Order: sequence, then C-alpha cells, then structure tokens
Amino acid sequence: MPENSVGDKGVRGMDRMSVEALREAVAGRGLLVAIDGPSGSGKSTVSKRIAADLNLAFLETGAMYRALTWLCMSNEVDLGNPEAVLKLADELEFSSVGTVAEPKFLVGDEDVTEALRSVEVAAAVSVVAGYIPVRNWMANSQRREMLKAKETGRGMIAEGRDITTVVCPDADVRILLLADSEARLKRRVLETYGKVTPELLDATRELVSGRDATDSLVSSFLEPAPGVIPIDSSNLSIEGVVDSVFDQVVDWLKSEGQGRA
Ligand code: C5P
Repeated sequence: MPENSVGDKGVRGMDRMSVEALREAVAGRGLLVAIDGPSGSGKSTVSKRIAADLNLAFLETGAMYRALTWLCMSNEVDLGNPEAVLKLADELEFSSVGTVAEPKFLVGDEDVTEALRSVEVAAAVSVVAGYIPVRNWMANSQRREMLKAKETGRGMIAEGRDITTVVCPDADVRILLLADSEARLKRRVLETYGKVTPELLDATRELVSGRDATDSLVSSFLEPAPGVIPIDSSNLSIEGVVDSVFDQVVDWLKSEGQGRA
C-alpha cells in the first residue's frame, strides 16, 4: 500500500500524512457529513476539527437558531408569538465569517458571536426551536446550503439536532454523538465560562437538562435513526471521536469504489 493511502483499518492511530491522504481522497467529491447530538456532546468541537482536516465547509445549525432568538430578543419580539418569530426568520441575515476553527457569526453587519453564547439566548432558544414552521424554515435553508456545498464539490459537515433525520437524511456519513450527562454538563460549563467549578456545574445543570428535554419534544437526537452511526464520546478524547468519524468517511469512500489508492 502506498505510504499515504487510506488503509483498510481507516485512519485510527495513523499519522498526520494519512489525514492529508484522506483530505485528498475526499477533495472535490462533495462529501456531506451530518452530525447530531445533545447539548455538550462535543459535536461542535469535533465538527470544526473534521472540517479543518478535510477542508469541508462547516455549518453550525445551532448558531442559526441562536441568531434568530437573539434577533427576536433585540427587537423585543414576543417569543410566545410563533407568527412574529417566523416573520423575523424571513428577515434574518445570518452569516458566518472567519476561520472554521474560530468562526464569527454575523446578523446583518453586527458581530453576534459572543451574544449567541450568552446564558439569556441559551435559556430562550428552545422556545424558538420548538415552533414547527420555524423548524421547517431552518431545515429548508440548511438543506439548501448543504446541497450547494455538494454541487460545488467542496462538501460540508453540518451539526445540530435533526441533520441526520430531517435536514439531510441522505448525507454520505451520518453520526449521532452521545455522551453521559455529567460529561456533557462539564463541557457546556467550560465552553460558557472558560472554567469548571462545582457552583457553575450546579447553576448550569438545570439549564442543560431542561433544554435537552424541551428540544427532545421536537427532534429525536438521543437514539440513532436507522443507518445513523452512534458514537459515545464519554470516555473518548476529541482525537478518538474524530478518528471514529474518519473511519466512517473511509467506509463511504470504499462504498463509492474510490477508497483504495
Ligand atoms: O447546538 P446548540 O446548543 O448551539 O443549539 C442551540 C439550540 O438550537 C438547541 O438547544 C435547540 O433548541 C436548537 N437546535 C435545533 N435543531 C438544530 C440545532 C439546534 O433545534 N439542528
């Protein structure tokens, strides 16, 4: 087997050269990877790594729901009024600039990156995400982005709650990322506050479990749908999860008849 080819055992434990080989193998093929999972499962961190390694575009769908929530709150729109929320969705000018590793989120010209991570937005986003017409609007817009990335050959990794099931059930690789609730809580606290203390864990526990419970009412992301590969990240490093996803990409390449050099 040539030195930098993608081998039968995937890329697990192999060197950097092999990741480059995988990037070359997927280049121009319009690979679509869909990753779902609950809050704190690590899907955003893992997706950014994979996007950077494989030179795929990256779509963080949670940021779109957060941006719409932020827009409603900034315009003092009643979040209890689904028609008013949907109307603002039509006016939402959301974009992502910067690098994949450090995206900046804009609404219009305004940088809302920090605001989207705020506790206020996190506490309200599930209400907005609970409206079916809003979900349909989001899913259509996200699917369009994904199909565009397929057509151009760049490919995309998209992460969220319903990408494997609703937005892109025909994605080439579909993953459900799971982790036990304490591991997820720690990650969320670290991401929000930059440190983990017992007080912050206690203060955040209810917010995270409440959001998961509300989100579960409208999308199913705690059990894998048929054909979706579950990966439990509780005891895996980021590298470990990334490698498991790469294994699935290798399988996809093989199924396309292009996996071997
Ligand atoms: O992933 P993140 O925590 O940023 O998602 C924020 C919220 O957006 C979720 O709690 C959920 O209410 C909503 N969401 C969704 N469907 C998606 C992505 C996010 O309902 N595909």
